[in-house]
Amino acid sequence: MARVCDICGKGPQFGNTISHAHNVSKRRWNVNLRPVHARVGAATKHIRVCTSCLRSGKVVTGPRYTSYFTSTNRTSKIKVELGGMTVE
Ligand SMILES: [Zn+2]
Repeated sequence: MARVCDICGKGPQFGNTISHAHNVSKRRWNVNLRPVHARVGAATKHIRVCTSCLRSGKVVTGPRYTSYFTSTNRTSKIKVELGGMTVE
C-alpha cells in the first residue's frame, strides 16, 4: 500500500543519512498518515489522510458531518461533490 495521502497526494521524500564519518546511505521520510472514516461526497469512506490535511480541516471526520470536505491541493484521487458539481 502506497504511503500517499488520499487528499493532497503527498508521498514519501527520499534523501541520504550521512554519518559523522560521512558514510552516505539512503533513507526516506514517510508521510504521517492516519486512517480515518471521512465524509466523501454523500458517503462515508475509509481513507488514509496525512496529519496536515487533518489539522487544516480538509477532511470531515467524526460526528461533524454537516459540511463536505473540500480538496484544494495537488492530485486528489477522490471526487468531491459540491452542490451537484463534481470536483476532482
Ligand atoms: Zn494530505
